[in-house]
Amino acid sequence: MVKEIFTESIWELLKTIPDPEIPAVSIVDLGIVRNVEFDNNKLNITITPTYSGCPAFSFMKEEIIRHLEAENITNYQIKTSLAPPWTTDWMSNDVKSKLKEAGIAPPSHEVVCPQCDSQNVQLISEFGSTSCKALYKCKECSEIFHHFKQI
Ligand SMILES: [Zn+2]
Repeated sequence: MVKEIFTESIWELLKTIPDPEIPAVSIVDLGIVRNVEFDNNKLNITITPTYSGCPAFSFMKEEIIRHLEAENITNYQIKTSLAPPWTTDWMSNDVKSKLKEAGIAPPSHEVVCPQCDSQNVQLISEFGSTSCKALYKCKECSEIFHHFKQI
């Protein structure tokens, strides 16, 4: 029981760590944190990188370490799991609305302008600020926005 409470508090702590590229969403929202468990009083956290080669991943890992150590948690191990690979399906439901509020079109087959919901959009660049996002322009409202690519 104590362990369950502690695991819950670790999840709560991890939810306070924002994605470095999209501060509106946490690394838990994105589905990067796969598992939190205790084994012989050692904390094991399993994380899966999003898009391969996303430079933010090592930064996220450092942020997890920084947050754990700020809570005086020192007996931990962070495992990186590559299988199964991360997909946008792992994002929590409300993360998609958070992305939209941040002006980023959430992952979907159909790219929709986050400002006016028009599908009359034009791809400007396959690679936006990072390889995770493509840059689009809305032909209805002229908004330029990022689309979080669906994988
Ligand atoms: Zn628009």
